[in-house]
Amino acid sequence: MDQEKIGKFIASCRKEKGFTQATLAEKLGITDRAVSKWETGKSLPDASIMMELCELIGTNVNELLTGERIALDEYTKKAEQSLIEMQAKAEKADRNLLRMEIVMGIIIIPLCIILTKISEIFINQGDALTGYALLVISYVAIVLFGIMGMKIEHDAGYYECPNCGERYVPSMLAVLLAIHVGTARRLKCPYCEKRGFHKKVVSKKKG
Ligand SMILES: [Zn+2]
Repeated sequence: MDQEKIGKFIASCRKEKGFTQATLAEKLGITDRAVSKWETGKSLPDASIMMELCELIGTNVNELLTGERIALDEYTKKAEQSLIEMQAKAEKADRNLLRMEIVMGIIIIPLCIILTKISEIFINQGDALTGYALLVISYVAIVLFGIMGMKIEHDAGYYECPNCGERYVPSMLAVLLAIHVGTARRLKCPYCEKRGFHKKVVSKKKG
């Protein structure tokens, strides 16, 4: 997906309609900085406003993501390409999130253990205030890391049922309550309803 090409295409459609960046931004209820970022290829419009944007500037999502006008006979092919590229992009982002969680775990958990030890030293030396403050900081950090990790594991990718092989996104509550080993969680499959350890996968498609 060529963001720069998409940006130029958005700019040219906008000008065809006679909008400035500011008037377009106002119609969409966003800042003109956001419009400028799309047009310079720094970011893509959010999925939530893509339809409205396309309607305003006289194009469609398929053309917008390809960055050019599409002839009717090429239409399906280009749409499929864009979908595949968006999927690949989402999978890469998920993979990075899961990796980040591991890296943060490697940093935060030992850091909190060290902080707890240091806080003991302060408390033993009579500076209870500093000691307890450090203790609270390390607990808060662990809890925040736990919440963040849980959210990443819920949002990124899918869980695969070892029984029927279906891949799905469970509810946040199911993830929260499930026993886990590594990134695998003991969940109930929504397809075959069997319980088991479902492993984390990044892609919705098998193979
Ligand atoms: Zn199943």
